[in-house]
Amino acid sequence: MKENLKQAIKVAQSYILLLLEENITSEQLVKINNLFQNCPVEVAEIPKNQTILSRCTQAAGIAIKDKIIIDARQVRNTNLTLESEKDELVATIIHEYAHKIRSLNNNFGHNFEEGFANIFAELCINNAKLKNNTKQDSFSSLQTSYDYRKYESEVRALLYILKQHHLDKQMIMEYITGEDLKFKNICEQILGAEFASYFAMVSSRNNANSESLLISLISEYIKKHGLDIKSYWISKEGLENNLYVKGSTTLAKAVVAAGIDALAPEQQEYYKYFAYSATETAKEEQADTESYVANIRATIINKYSLNGKTQAEIYDTVLDLCSDYILYQNQDNKDAQAFIKEMENMFPKIEDFKQKFIMLRRLRKDKEILANIDLNNPTYEEIYYNINSLVDSLESNIIR
Ligand SMILES: [Zn+2]
Repeated sequence: MKENLKQAIKVAQSYILLLLEENITSEQLVKINNLFQNCPVEVAEIPKNQTILSRCTQAAGIAIKDKIIIDARQVRNTNLTLESEKDELVATIIHEYAHKIRSLNNNFGHNFEEGFANIFAELCINNAKLKNNTKQDSFSSLQTSYDYRKYESEVRALLYILKQHHLDKQMIMEYITGEDLKFKNICEQILGAEFASYFAMVSSRNNANSESLLISLISEYIKKHGLDIKSYWISKEGLENNLYVKGSTTLAKAVVAAGIDALAPEQQEYYKYFAYSATETAKEEQADTESYVANIRATIINKYSLNGKTQAEIYDTVLDLCSDYILYQNQDNKDAQAFIKEMENMFPKIEDFKQKFIMLRRLRKDKEILANIDLNNPTYEEIYYNINSLVDSLESNIIR
């Protein structure tokens, strides 16, 4: 296994250098060579990351302060003599190196950086194939995790606009090896000063609404300058064009937002492909949202159901409901927010329920909320009724 990794690291480093030596200064190259020497790449079992929806996410690699760790399962399961398997492992290593290279000059750019790291890995690998005279039809189109796909789509949409100014490849280099400030300034010149807000949002943890902001920036650009969408669909030859083979649903939505009239007459017959892609994506996203919400509702019903429970179990369930609700209120991630929304849909008075329950707990009156509860058919309404009665009687005691 160690031998496998050693070989893949060597390939990854050589691919990165092969691409960068034509595109960055020799000073920058020295820094990157130093990084390769000083940043070990190790194998370890990377623990699964359990989210509150019990969705398991498994990272193939992680870059930490002084080293890169590649998941042992991926290394073990890779047969380096199979090109596609080799490409996936090499891509993982390049992706992690991309984080390390960027960290020489910049802060972590969250999901925007993840999208760029994937695209950079793909570009390195395909550039090497091109230089080694491999046929272009064997260009790699690497697999991407579901969570990163959305950001790759945004990055590819942005790159396609930059391509109109022959800046796409250069700006990948700028983002990975250069400086955020320069990257941002060039994008602002092309997409307008508003790009700064987009860049700040997408480079932070709080990036859930970034796509709609980028769509509005790009559609404004198209209204002003039009867009060569014909080449997007027709010419797929060459390394740079390969960047757009996967397509970008963000770009499709932006073209539709700009409208067919924003395009030059010879471009208009290609509009329908973008419209189709945008409609299909909207349907998929709607279905994803619905199944996501259904999953959350089922989790809530299952976890906080009172049926068939003893009095002690019912008490624990009420306590769980209130403490989970508080826990989610203190988190800013998408799952927690979705849970809160659904909890509030299912228990409209949950905030009041929680506050009064906590108050009764402090006064050690909390066990009394289950007095006279019908264990054959316990309901939150009944418990809430008891909670309110208890609070009322306490308040009237205080007044007396
Ligand atoms: Zn990453």
